[in-house]
Amino acid sequence: MANNNAIAVLETGAHFDMERIRADFPILNTKVEGKPLVYLDNAASSQMPQQVIDRLVYYQTAQHANINRAVHYLSEVATDEYEKARQKIQRFVNAREQREIIFTSGTTDSINLVMHGYGRQFIQAGDEIILTTLEHHSNIVPWQMLAKEKGAVIRVVPINDAGELDIESYEKLFNDRTKFVGLIHVSNALGTINPIKRMIDYAHQQDVPVLVDGAQAAPHIAVDMQALDCDFYVFSAHKLCGPTGIGMLYGKASVLEAMQPFKGGGDMIASVTFEETTYADIPHKFEAGTPPIAAAIGFGAAVDYLSSIGMEQIYAHESKLLHYATERISAIKGAKILGTAAQKTAVISFILDGIHPHDIGTILNQDGIAVRTGHHCAQPIMQRFNVPATSRASFAFYNDISEVDALIAGIRNVQNIFL
Ligand code: PMP
Repeated sequence: MANNNAIAVLETGAHFDMERIRADFPILNTKVEGKPLVYLDNAASSQMPQQVIDRLVYYQTAQHANINRAVHYLSEVATDEYEKARQKIQRFVNAREQREIIFTSGTTDSINLVMHGYGRQFIQAGDEIILTTLEHHSNIVPWQMLAKEKGAVIRVVPINDAGELDIESYEKLFNDRTKFVGLIHVSNALGTINPIKRMIDYAHQQDVPVLVDGAQAAPHIAVDMQALDCDFYVFSAHKLCGPTGIGMLYGKASVLEAMQPFKGGGDMIASVTFEETTYADIPHKFEAGTPPIAAAIGFGAAVDYLSSIGMEQIYAHESKLLHYATERISAIKGAKILGTAAQKTAVISFILDGIHPHDIGTILNQDGIAVRTGHHCAQPIMQRFNVPATSRASFAFYNDISEVDALIAGIRNVQNIFL
């Protein structure tokens, strides 16, 4: 039985058809230790609705062949569906042109592509790269590898105690050696939504390009490439109800055209002789070899699914879950939330006095509750807060208030066991 707060939240969200949405996700019927699954690990990977599963099955059943290489029927169908998926992603992020969307294997792959294709060409010894304390390791390590290779320098934007970027410090980091900015849109560990438009505009005033890691933004808020005007934007399909092994890199056409390819091979060439190779135009220049065709088509189906619900509706529902969960967890004695930014997505990282996060995760799992424990591939944030790890509950639009209540009961149970 939900309490009064929960009922108030549910009433204000009455237009959101939770029952119908949950029915789309067969995996939510899973039982764990005989109890209903409460899946709160969506920042690591979200679940797939039947519509996307069906699309994958239909592709494999009726449409599969290799793309781009033949004139036979199935190859033309598969090529067409693959390119239609690209167009769906283009519309989802409001990119100006379809050729600005490159299929990659995910966020990490996209960032590595930019590091190799842009960084190795345009960043030299003594140049500076600005990153933030909030970055996921995948937007730190590639730039460190580049800095080491080139003798470049990494500068880091600090955060305050709420987990918000210090924008004044960011602006002060720029000088005439600054050549690149890598910026997380939404923190996977804390949920902070960064003021990236302002930060992109500032970098552009200094003629510095910006890569935005949107892995935790695209699943929760509408993102618009033309409005943001960033040079690169990256995310993975598996965090927005799509398959693993596929993601995207948005790049401004003029920037992508100036870049060298990262991987060489079939499908990315215009002509090859042993003396010289000329490359295909974008986006194909960056898509060497047979891509994960089925996964790309599933990615297209996933953004169709999210769009059918509406990103504004998704954000509004998840915000209600966030506020309710924040209020309830803050009221638990001995619990502390890390990351209390004014602008947040529905991610709650918390610690419990005297209890190791790993033990919290293990006991919650016995109640069927899936949360993530650890450093969340964001060790600099853990260092900033002086903790080795946190427990993280991360919500999706298919989570409901009763699942927040289950989490609260689970946390109290953990405290009863350990304290
Ligand atoms: N950046 C952020 C902010 C993330 O949350 C993640 C996934 N945890 C990644 C990058 C890496 O994504 P992937 O593993 O899909 O490449």
